[in-house]
Amino acid sequence: MAEETVFGKIVSGEIPVEILAETDRVIAFPDMNPQAAVHVLVIPKTTKYRNVVELAAGDPETLTEMVAVAQHIADEHAEGEFRLIFNSGEGAGQTVFHVHAHVLAGAFKEQSLVGS
Ligand code: AMP
Repeated sequence: MAEETVFGKIVSGEIPVEILAETDRVIAFPDMNPQAAVHVLVIPKTTKYRNVVELAAGDPETLTEMVAVAQHIADEHAEGEFRLIFNSGEGAGQTVFHVHAHVLAGAFKEQSLVGS
């Protein structure tokens, strides 16, 4: 089990966010520090996986669902086209160790390094 993170508190409702999409396994909400016109985080409800490599190995169905939710967000909030970024490891800019996908669409901040 990963240590408790801010995203664990969002899943439990302790920290309120605007839920943009929700399935049994996944929620999506706006990034508080947007790097593009559309910048949404898609996270699994489980707190078990720290990064996408662990999730892919342990629960590939949830990873597939995250991708489907990302497409849904892009369909609803952009033109259906998007970047999907998983920072994996501190050196890659990961700051929250509860696996999450950044969905980015629309105009991007120049030289954006998501999450840093
Ligand atoms: P990463 O650097 O890939 O770990 O991304 C973590 C992201 O979570 C950053 O882009 C932050 O802006 C975002 N973030 C952290 N806390 C919150 C929060 N309470 N609500 C929304 N986004 C958050």
